[in-house]
Amino acid sequence: VSRFEGIAMAPPDPILGVSEAFKADTNDMKLNLGVGAYRTEELQPYVLNVVKKVEKLMLERGEYKEYLPIEGLAAFNKVTAELLFGADNGVIKQGRVATVQGLSGTGSLRVAAAFIERYFPTAKVLISSPTWGNHKNIFNDARVPWSEYRYYDPKTVGLDFDGMISDIKAAPDGSFILLHGCAHNPTGIDPTPEQWEKIADVIQEKNHIPFFDVAYQGFASGSLDEDASSVRLFAARGLELLVAQSYSKNLGLYAERIGAINVVCSSSDAAARVKSQLKRIARPMYSNPPVHGARIVANVVGDPALFNEWKEEMEIMAGRIKNVRQKLFDSLSAKDKSGKDWSFILKQIGMFSFTGLNKAQSENMSNKWHVYMTKDGRISLAGLSLAKCDYLADGIIDSFY
Ligand code: PMP
Repeated sequence: VSRFEGIAMAPPDPILGVSEAFKADTNDMKLNLGVGAYRTEELQPYVLNVVKKVEKLMLERGEYKEYLPIEGLAAFNKVTAELLFGADNGVIKQGRVATVQGLSGTGSLRVAAAFIERYFPTAKVLISSPTWGNHKNIFNDARVPWSEYRYYDPKTVGLDFDGMISDIKAAPDGSFILLHGCAHNPTGIDPTPEQWEKIADVIQEKNHIPFFDVAYQGFASGSLDEDASSVRLFAARGLELLVAQSYSKNLGLYAERIGAINVVCSSSDAAARVKSQLKRIARPMYSNPPVHGARIVANVVGDPALFNEWKEEMEIMAGRIKNVRQKLFDSLSAKDKSGKDWSFILKQIGMFSFTGLNKAQSENMSNKWHVYMTKDGRISLAGLSLAKCDYLADGIIDSFY
């Protein structure tokens, strides 16, 4: 008898499990709108041209594969903070940002969670309801207590701004408030610039610490600066804050696991101490991060011509998603005779759309229409083509009514 007899089968991951169900389906019309990965109009995975170019360069240079320092590649850490805050931002000039390369967004969030658990043992993290499913796992595994703040209003398929503000106000002073920098996952609903100011007011009043998850910089609007404006607004107020970054989407480096954790401190001295402790957390966890993705980012951002090429490709990706969003709205509006207003789809931003379909309706989408999506009603528009919008609209309308 196995010594592991008492170990129960873990449930499949609610997001990655969708891809497994998709693979098992043999129908020609099947669509995978579960996981958030960019596809071309032909629904093929995409490697950016600028990435291919830089990888060729790296091969020609015959770069070593020796260990990076615990904090990662220095050239990467420099450009990643500059990309986020802007190179001429005071927080950079004054050396107030502690940046450590992480294992993409997830690994960076996990290191930050361990840091919170170690140095703020009585603090709790507030996360939006709903949020990216893995946030809860990350804080649970790091033993950081969390609770939710209201975010989504099903009546308007929009932001429950008043609920959000009053929940942030009601949280114990000095809580960490997890915010999606842009393109909120799963809803696609972001606060307006005026709303961001009010959120910053309350966070400041309550002495909370903002904790940004930035997984889509440049990928949401097509502009790196625009997508970082929420983070920069908070930094400009002189607040201390945390930011986890990911290059999975904007550079298509999903499997390279490249990202960073940045902690903005009120002094360079505090930043140096925080950085030393982040390294201390990383060392026994994974020792040091992978080099390949870090070199790609450093080379792309460090060369003006390549940097421009990246921005152009990012605009193309963001543009394709916007076109699909528009086409899906058009298809739904044309086909739905009930008079339902679908314009909420156009107000959402980023690769996801929150359809408002409930669990049973989402199951109808996969069982009857071979459209695979998460059970919260989220679809990834990045996995949809213009050619399939009409088919998808038929499925959504059938499932709704
Ligand atoms: N945060 C959010 C909100 C995300 O949507 C994602 C990717 N789905 C991540 C973090 C992390 O992704 P990765 O670990 O690939 O960077």
